[in-house]
Amino acid sequence: PATSLQDIIAHAKEYGFVFPSSEIYDGLQAVYDYGQNGVELKNNLKTLWWKAMTQLHDNVVGIDASIFMHPLTWKASGHVDSFNDPMIDNRDSKKRYRADQLIELKAESYENAGDVERGQALRNELGRLQSAEDMDGLRSLIITEGIKDPVSGTDNWTEVRQFNLMFSTQVGSLAEDASLIYLRPETAQGIFVNFLNVQKTGRMKIPFGIAQIGKAFRNEIVARQFTFRMREFEQMEMQFFVRPGTEMEWYERWRDARMKFHQAVGLPAEKLKFHNHEKLAHYANAAVDIEYQFPFGFREMEGIHSRTDFDLKAHQDLSRKKQQYFDNDVDPATGKPYGNYIPYVVETSVGADRLFLAVFCNAFTKETVGEGEDQKERTYLKLHPALAPVKVAVFPLVRKDGLPEKAQEIVKSLRSEFRVVYEERDAIGKRYTRQDLIGTPFCIAVDYQSLDDNTVTIRYRDTTEQIRVPISELKARIGQEVSM
Ligand code: ATP
Repeated sequence: PATSLQDIIAHAKEYGFVFPSSEIYDGLQAVYDYGQNGVELKNNLKTLWWKAMTQLHDNVVGIDASIFMHPLTWKASGHVDSFNDPMIDNRDSKKRYRADQLIELKAESYENAGDVERGQALRNELGRLQSAEDMDGLRSLIITEGIKDPVSGTDNWTEVRQFNLMFSTQVGSLAEDASLIYLRPETAQGIFVNFLNVQKTGRMKIPFGIAQIGKAFRNEIVARQFTFRMREFEQMEMQFFVRPGTEMEWYERWRDARMKFHQAVGLPAEKLKFHNHEKLAHYANAAVDIEYQFPFGFREMEGIHSRTDFDLKAHQDLSRKKQQYFDNDVDPATGKPYGNYIPYVVETSVGADRLFLAVFCNAFTKETVGEGEDQKERTYLKLHPALAPVKVAVFPLVRKDGLPEKAQEIVKSLRSEFRVVYEERDAIGKRYTRQDLIGTPFCIAVDYQSLDDNTVTIRYRDTTEQIRVPISELKARIGQEVSM
């Protein structure tokens, strides 16, 4: 049977990956906490991304900018004026919805019922109205499609209004001094405003990139589908600065590099696809999403955008500080240096929480094992060993005769290298099962033979196969398997 999102959410909670925020107060909508295993998996993903972007490229460096930025940043970026979602209220239930999402759900229901053409036609119409910013048109479409509020069951809708997604708060202690400040809705602007700082202090030559991992906040109106759409989330973004005219070449290169990354972390090629944007945002001259097939369908996981000089130029205009680069490479056409220009930018932007969800969904495996009477179901997380929260579990077969001490010695010899846990309670079969459920790729069992010949068994999570190996070889063997 296909895995549902409900199975995923339940497993994530039960085994310490993701908890609803402030759960004892019944939770906070669209906010989640990562538990003891979730944080390890998420950190492993972030580390791999960081390494792929910075360490494996000569010309990409990282920064860590603040969540708070000068309010004019968001004026320049366009977020104050146009980071809006169209919303609509139902007068009977008093519930608020995103107009575009109501229409998308309707399109989805046509498609699920087999009428793909009608679903697609509806999506096209939605796209047209969105780009025309036609709020009345959106409302009419909701009415003519007969879309009803799932709570009240009525179609007593208000008009459609634009709603800004940025969270704001006050800085300063006294009310009169305090001024409005936003929580960043994307990490990218922290990179743009530091473009010259990094370029100058790092003596960077174009083309070069700046990478960053950090929190972003959006007041999503309809937040659903677990960590797919949250109000507080984490982005992993990279802005790559290029000479104008060369952006398409870099756009294609990064698009392909990013697809390879997702496959390298274990997402199967058939569950990934590119989705080209037909309608481009005002700042972009090319844009593509990498979509993953979540249990609720193919959805955006990462965006790759060619943003031209839109952001740097806007910051230059508003701050009155030149955002130019002097390129002393010689232009073969003129025989002279390219000189001063505002660089173009190719951006890659992936949500750490969406990547986490994709990897988690993909790893969640339910299998029927055994024959006849012995048949049972086995659940485990088939994570790439490099991503697993715990790499090795060490078990003494019994809690006596020096086996625990021997097992502890092994733990000590491995723990500086890998995340290792020791467990001696319960039958060994139960201990294997507990590790399967959190995706531990290797379990080491210490038995009486270990005391005689210094060998142990390693049990492999995916095959449940066990092999006997000398203790002296453990570090090298496991090291090989957990590297990527
Ligand atoms: P969507 O259309 O799904 O709202 P978006 O196109 O607004 O996403 P971008 O602004 O391009 O998203 O942000 C880049 C990436 O940040 C997305 O591909 C996604 O992985 C992640 N992201 C954006 N919004 C959220 C959110 N509310 N919760 C979790 N991740 C998010």
